[in-house]
Amino acid sequence: PERGDTLLYLNGVTVSFDGFKALNSLSLFITAGEMRAIIGPNGAGKTTMMDVITGKTRPQSGDVYFNGDIDLTQLDEARIANLGIGRKFQKPTVFESQSVFDNLKLALAGQRRVFESLFFRLSSEQRDRIESVLRTVSLFEKRWALAGSLSHGQKQWLELGMLLMQDPEVLLVDEPAAGMTDAETAATAELLKEINRKHTVIVVEHDMVFVRALGVHVTVLHEGSVLAEGSLDKVQANQKVIEVYLGR
Ligand code: ADP
Repeated sequence: PERGDTLLYLNGVTVSFDGFKALNSLSLFITAGEMRAIIGPNGAGKTTMMDVITGKTRPQSGDVYFNGDIDLTQLDEARIANLGIGRKFQKPTVFESQSVFDNLKLALAGQRRVFESLFFRLSSEQRDRIESVLRTVSLFEKRWALAGSLSHGQKQWLELGMLLMQDPEVLLVDEPAAGMTDAETAATAELLKEINRKHTVIVVEHDMVFVRALGVHVTVLHEGSVLAEGSLDKVQANQKVIEVYLGR
């Protein structure tokens, strides 16, 4: 595709660690508004791919562009986050001793120090935004509960909510369903679909039941490049994908 038609454009991206290629000429094109699932065995390069997009790792070669013309290889992590590229790591990092509501308030305050943030006065628009995000992540009823008292799944949703407070254009989400019950996994798929109505989403995931519930285009990474792409049914029927997953 043309760079100008993409939201994220990775072309021929290579990242080496002491000669070992974690990404080997990876090309990945994400269109504004889509949700893409990235799958692949351990060591395939999924984390490194996210590190390259968010500026944590600089590629040795290849192009990484956002919105067609912003060269992400020239920007640091903070600048990239400010462009509207949000990342959710696997391990939730909520403020356990604060309420669910205050966690979202802290996320809204962003860079401000925690103590100052808790005492800043919300405008009615800000309060509305927090309440809207609380509803999106199904935590409105829990808004006065301490974040530390939430279930593992609810903490993951709260963290997605904290990311949403920054209103990012694209969300990179690492294994959102890891460690969840079946019911929570199903609810998380619905939540991501809801988020995708307004945001582009890239989900790295191992759980195929979850990926199926998302019902989106899948990219299979292997040894640092794209092995297959398409619907889940199509890539699961791909002989190369079967060999990689069955280990022969
Ligand atoms: P995935 O997320 O798909 O499991 P990663 O991107 O974490 O894969 O890793 C890809 C490969 O690169 C792995 O073999 C990993 O050991 C290697 N790797 C990743 N980061 C580093 C690093 N900082 N130093 C050395 N090797 C690394």
